[in-house]
Amino acid sequence: MESIVQNPGKQRKVLIVEDNEMNLKLFRLIIGSLGYEVFSARNGEEGVRMAKEIVPDLILMDIQMPVMDGITAMDNIKATEGIKDIPVIALTSYAMKGDRERLLQHGFVDYIAKPVRKDSLIMAAKKVLEKGD
Ligand code: MN
Repeated sequence: MESIVQNPGKQRKVLIVEDNEMNLKLFRLIIGSLGYEVFSARNGEEGVRMAKEIVPDLILMDIQMPVMDGITAMDNIKATEGIKDIPVIALTSYAMKGDRERLLQHGFVDYIAKPVRKDSLIMAAKKVLEKGD
């Protein structure tokens, strides 16, 4: 059987920033099943702090969160050397037309509408993490 982790020495790290425990548990399960190392934060402020510590290969960012929302956290990341180039995917229930463009303007590389479908999350994460392999 082919291993999911092609190169365990370079295991990719994914930081999930999400305040809803049920969503967080689900996203951790899905991303973890792909063989990535998973970290989690419960709000934008914690997310930015952890991003600086871990320097993940991908960040999944909820938008509506207490303490610091995902857009503000994204603006902080973009203004911080060392983490500003980490790809960040927005996870949001804002499904209105025009929001995708607004999120992309803030620098998010992609957008996943909630409720998040497992295959959408896997495809979006792999698109960022497996390119060039
Ligand atoms: Mn939320």
